[in-house]
Amino acid sequence: MSDCIFCKIVRGEIPSKKVYEDEDIFAFHDINPIAPVHFMIVPKVHVASLYDAGPDHQAVLGKILAKAGELARGQGLADGFRTIINTGRIGHQEVYHLHVHILGGPEPLGSMLKRK
Ligand code: 5GP
Ligand code: ZN
Repeated sequence: MSDCIFCKIVRGEIPSKKVYEDEDIFAFHDINPIAPVHFMIVPKVHVASLYDAGPDHQAVLGKILAKAGELARGQGLADGFRTIINTGRIGHQEVYHLHVHILGGPEPLGSMLKRK
């Protein structure tokens, strides 16, 4: 996708603070962090959202999750972290290139969602 902002980051056309890259996945710090450590892991291939993912994406999505702990460790998140994938309007997704947020401490992040 030529005009997708995360595809541009993956291609290096928009600068980012890179955490990790291999042939399939790319990780970079969020430009507007909501926790002391906040980075995202994305597939290099454009997939709009988790809603749009399918069997073709099984390997790369598995790779992202399998890499999350190692990358979190590299950012000092030894006491844990939160992973978030926002999907669609209800999930408040802002960028339509599937991404896994990794959020961490040093303090506990609080409950996942506020109870109404
Ligand atoms: P979403 O709400 O789609 O799950 O999250 C999108 C995230 O992308 C937001 O946290 C936002 O701060 C981040 N973001 C948006 N544009 C850029 C950008 O150009 N560079 C980086 N590093 N992060 C971005
Ligand atoms: Zn994209």
